[in-house]
Amino acid sequence: MLSSNFGRLDAEVEMVNESVADCFHLDIMDGLFVPNLSYGLPVVKAIAKKAAKPLDVHLMIQHPDRYLEAFKEAGAAWLTVHYEACTHLHRTLRAIRALGMKAGVALNPHTPVTMLTDVVHDADLILIMSVNPGFGGQAFISHAFRKVAAMKELVLREKAATLIEVDGGVDTQNAAALCDAGADVLVAGQAIFGSNNPAPAIRRIKELISK
Ligand code: ZN
Repeated sequence: MLSSNFGRLDAEVEMVNESVADCFHLDIMDGLFVPNLSYGLPVVKAIAKKAAKPLDVHLMIQHPDRYLEAFKEAGAAWLTVHYEACTHLHRTLRAIRALGMKAGVALNPHTPVTMLTDVVHDADLILIMSVNPGFGGQAFISHAFRKVAAMKELVLREKAATLIEVDGGVDTQNAAALCDAGADVLVAGQAIFGSNNPAPAIRRIKELISK
């Protein structure tokens, strides 16, 4: 939703509701963990009020533990924290699940997937950043393919049910190859909201990955 038009948020939410998208992906930035600010709890609540699909909330913030409950109350169904922002990641993931949400961990492009070996069963979702977090509309880092494949291997080896999500620069050029590499969930922002026809743009990506 970072790439959506906030001046007409209700209409953007309605478009996603009526599209073949599976959920809403919300990027929260604090100006500390990432250089940029995005939006906070009031916007999450406003989207939740109109959304007919689950909210997948991606916290690019320092000390996310302070806000887990607030995001639950705001309507998050999935809550993802950054590996790089959590000193006690295992505890944080447990706390997210205890609040009744699905727990996710995101990895910056420089963080190897092996850092998650010991928490793979505690995460419902692992998010591979395919751009450096902080801004919408960046170019895709192709190293993400190898990283998704390595993560898939780890998930299979550990016999975990963890989903793999890719976030950043996803479009019709890389969507199918990302799924082939092992991605289960794709986040598309600019590829959707930067298009003149967002709903068909979502459908095109879905068609590419269902083959
Ligand atoms: Zn995100």
